[in-house]
Amino acid sequence: MNASTARPQQIEAINTLQRRLATDCTPPEVLATWPSGKADRQIAYLTSLVDARRELPRLRAQWVSAMRLLAQTGADVSTIPSLPPMATPDQIEQSIHMLATGIDIARGGNGTDGLYAVQREIARAGRALRDRGANVDAGFYIYEGQLIRIVQAPEGDLYATFRDPATEHSWQYLKVSMYRVYLHANVASSDDLARWGRGTGMCFVCGRRLGHARTQDQGIHATCATGLGARPEDDHR
Ligand SMILES: [Zn+2]
Repeated sequence: MNASTARPQQIEAINTLQRRLATDCTPPEVLATWPSGKADRQIAYLTSLVDARRELPRLRAQWVSAMRLLAQTGADVSTIPSLPPMATPDQIEQSIHMLATGIDIARGGNGTDGLYAVQREIARAGRALRDRGANVDAGFYIYEGQLIRIVQAPEGDLYATFRDPATEHSWQYLKVSMYRVYLHANVASSDDLARWGRGTGMCFVCGRRLGHARTQDQGIHATCATGLGARPEDDHR
């Protein structure tokens, strides 16, 4: 009797957006009980997340380039605060602006007049970085001898996680700047994952114990190994 509940097109739109974000999906039967206005607001919100996700690789490359340019002036970049986990495009842009000001001042400018030129230089360097394919993405990496997993958050930028075998489960947040991951991390091979599993008796991908002797020898569940690479980022265990 309620004419203002979510229409099928709205439910379909929300489901499509949720799939693109690989985020938790609200079941269609639940969405069907939503007021139409609420469905519209959710569509607008999820669309803004999808748009933001498109901006992130470009901004991330610019941010790393800005850090490099500042480091080249001899400035101590270790004091620069790293981006927060799940940084939004706005937060990254603000940080790039701050770095650009710092670069101009470090080069003898006043932090204002030379700012535009520095920002263009950062944009060019960011493009060059991406053209070289030097970009961190979601996946498994070795960072300072540690196996880590870089996760693409639905709500913002990449962040790093690791597993502590002592806790038996769940990913833990690794407090590290993506700048350092860019410079020092290497993509982990399946051998790296298997070695970690043989050493801990736990599968790095899913966090479950490696039960059978044969699985323990392999260091990773067969299903987890086959899913590598094509794995959607929906595992928040
Ligand atoms: Zn597994």
